[in-house]
Amino acid sequence: MNVYEIGPYWIAAKSADHALGVYVEETHELSDLVIGEPGEGETEEVTISIRQLTRNQVESPSVYCCEDGGCSFCKDEEDAVLISYQDLINKREEREFPCVIAKEE
Ligand SMILES: [Zn+2]
Repeated sequence: MNVYEIGPYWIAAKSADHALGVYVEETHELSDLVIGEPGEGETEEVTISIRQLTRNQVESPSVYCCEDGGCSFCKDEEDAVLISYQDLINKREEREFPCVIAKEE
């Protein structure tokens, strides 16, 4: 499973086109996309950047497990703990993918 960063989303998917499909579903109102109003007969382009995280980035603790504490990762801790994207992938079922595993607020 790879992790792709698209806009504010981290999406776990087997390939970039699957990740892009999830992104389009998530942003069906396209509120995250900014597009200028094309004049009559003109064309505006939207560029979507997809970045595949390195294996190291996926496996390094870099994201908090939850907001309020008390999830399965931090139930024995005082606060939310840093976990890796791989941890987020591992806690999900295979059939849930591709899906968003984290979102920048
Ligand atoms: Zn937690």
